Amino acid sequence: MIAEIIMNSSVKNLDRTFDYSIPFELEDKITIGSRVFVKFGNIKKLKEGFVVNIKEKSEFEAKPISKVEERDFIDEPKIKLAKWMAKRYFCNVSDCIKLMLPPGTGTNNLENRAKEKTLRFVRCLKTSEEIEFDIENKKLKSEKQIRALRFLCNNNEISSKDLEELSDVSTAILKTLEKNRYIEFYEQAVERNPFMHKVITSNQKLVLTEEQQAAYKAVEDSIDDIMNSEFLLFGVTGSGKTEVYLQLIEKVLSMGKTSVMLVPEISLTPQTVDRFIARFGQKKIAILHSKLSVGERYDQWYKIKNGEAKIVIGARSAIFAPINDLGLIIIDEEHDSSYKSEMTPRYNVKDVSRYLAKEYSIPIVYGSATPDMDTYYKATIGEIELLELTKRANNASLPNINIVDMRRELANGNRSSISMKLYDNIKQNLQDKKQTILFLNRRGYSTFILCRDCGYVAKCKHCNIALTYHSKENKLKCHYCGYETLPVGYCPDCKSKNIQYSGSGTQKLEEEINKIFPSAKTIRMDVDTVSKKNSHEDILNKFKNENIDILIGTQMVVKGHHFPNVTLVGVIFADGSLNIEDYRANERTFQILTQVAGRAGRENNKGNVIIQTYNPDNLSIEFSKKQDFKLFYQTEIMIRKQLKYPPFCDIILIGFSSENEINVIESAKFIYMSLKEKIIKEKLKIILYKPVPAPIDKIKNKIRWRIIIKCKFDDEIIDALNRSIEELKNKNIKNVKTVIDINPTNMM
Ligand code: ADP
Ligand code: ZN
Ligand code: ZN
Repeated sequence: MIAEIIMNSSVKNLDRTFDYSIPFELEDKITIGSRVFVKFGNIKKLKEGFVVNIKEKSEFEAKPISKVEERDFIDEPKIKLAKWMAKRYFCNVSDCIKLMLPPGTGTNNLENRAKEKTLRFVRCLKTSEEIEFDIENKKLKSEKQIRALRFLCNNNEISSKDLEELSDVSTAILKTLEKNRYIEFYEQAVERNPFMHKVITSNQKLVLTEEQQAAYKAVEDSIDDIMNSEFLLFGVTGSGKTEVYLQLIEKVLSMGKTSVMLVPEISLTPQTVDRFIARFGQKKIAILHSKLSVGERYDQWYKIKNGEAKIVIGARSAIFAPINDLGLIIIDEEHDSSYKSEMTPRYNVKDVSRYLAKEYSIPIVYGSATPDMDTYYKATIGEIELLELTKRANNASLPNINIVDMRRELANGNRSSISMKLYDNIKQNLQDKKQTILFLNRRGYSTFILCRDCGYVAKCKHCNIALTYHSKENKLKCHYCGYETLPVGYCPDCKSKNIQYSGSGTQKLEEEINKIFPSAKTIRMDVDTVSKKNSHEDILNKFKNENIDILIGTQMVVKGHHFPNVTLVGVIFADGSLNIEDYRANERTFQILTQVAGRAGRENNKGNVIIQTYNPDNLSIEFSKKQDFKLFYQTEIMIRKQLKYPPFCDIILIGFSSENEINVIESAKFIYMSLKEKIIKEKLKIILYKPVPAPIDKIKNKIRWRIIIKCKFDDEIIDALNRSIEELKNKNIKNVKTVIDINPTNMM
């Protein structure tokens, strides 16, 4: 038999199959999806590849496969998925296969790969009668040896470390016993369990409200009828979406099948996981999350692979977990931008979910309080079934939302970042011993440093991006490449000393708050304070349990957390996300403001939200005051239609980057011409824009150009793009990286 193999490599030219023969003795072990090692070209070391097809004969003289990895092969449907993705996302098949391997094993470097964790265990080779016999006959005399053996007889097969500790003997004693054939050592895998030490009281399922029940029933019917339908569970935070998920998962579990629940990386908090453990127990749950160690993730992966875990909770890549009896896919906070990968392969997990749901004939449930424009549009035209939860499940009322015009504050002589209204509310909250969250989507101290005389802004010399000032370290930092430099007291261009540290970040805000409310206890959460493994959890727990009055943070504070004592949420600068150069600016602003507002008053206390802005008339700000997604949607969808933006059109961004500017421009022009020709010859319905420098035209010394295309992203255009890329490859322009991104989250 012949195996078609794809090498584990991101090199474009290796994105094809190679034939190898399967030696007779490996025939049982090699299937489609096996990971194998082969001689490749003149390379001495064996190279790794994946079997993507098996056939009778080859037209070439095929060399034999040398070795096969027995433990972690993936299955044939995954290979099919990888091929589908490679074509759709313009990358190598092996790039996609890597997503499906056990965590920490994608690298070609065998020494660095994650493995099982094993411990040395001890087992007794004699019965207790035999041992007692030997003791009587003085064959065994050492007190310590006898103690260890007797202990082992009662507790056979324990780790040698435990045996040493519990029977109080040294390693040398055990070695002697091994030599005399009383015991033997062996290695055994142990699970690295991220839930260890967790004590969670179990929690019973709730009686669903009428709306929840209707939603549940719709999805249940589709599960029972083995239908591939899609649902949008649309409900404000606290409307009981999670309870619906829990009960659907229970249903799927009772059928012996596995559910996947995707959550944004940032909201996969211990609180979320705890709710699932409380309902189902930790044995059946696997979590896949970047905060776990590679070893832990590796073990979670096998817990799914061997069928023990029936509920998989994770960030976007959890969709590639080795599940063979998939019964349901849930995508919570489905509007979240983290569901789209910004690295090769640049996949959107919703596309992949749709593909899988079709293969398995199962439903997908999208959940959100502020659905993606695209998802909601599909719901309005009937492609997705809309399930609505209109009330908060525990009868908590929606918060009061106030908008403060910061231009007027300035006119009234208030130059601080806290408006009078917010000041009064924080003060009142402190008196009432209630908690406050202040949200500002900028870390650090101030956004940039500006010369008031000539307008000079300090920028990173590698990236052409404004540098951010971090006051604690007194440094200017580039958030793109990590470049750091010391601030200078004068303008490098005009030598003026009139330098303004303008804007504000979380760190500066915390200082300001500490000055205005010296007795208030504050805590800050942003990427600079959240870095260690658990400190995200630590900060939230501290805020919850240690009488901290004010939590100040970026985006991170917005999602999924549940703080019963928070009654006031302040948005310091709502305009931050409006000024981005992106067609989704309004959508993002509306989403963030609605989510932030959802943090206030989740239980019996009525919540207050204060939104500070310089654009009080902006529609997304106005609609978030009304908490009315539908109104926002109706306005925004008209703009999208007019300007031919998604969901009416897909945006394809072809990016070119290199340190060599001439090569970048040449590549971009080549692709442009090649596509233009196809448009004319093949009558492709696309709008092709001329190559231009990207908004950030230099990152890490690489010059960046781009081409934008608007079209319906279908098989025809996939094919045309793949051919143009192939032609470019044959031109052999050196050192230019080309990426194609479909509806990218980041347009910069
Ligand atoms: P969401 O996921 O939409 O934010 P949750 O499922 O977290 O909403 O529900 C919010 C709160 O309401 C939780 O404390 C939950 O326990 C409670 N809750 C949800 N459904 C019910 C129900 N049917 N009866 C009583 N309480 C409920
Ligand atoms: Zn100047
Ligand atoms: Zn930089």
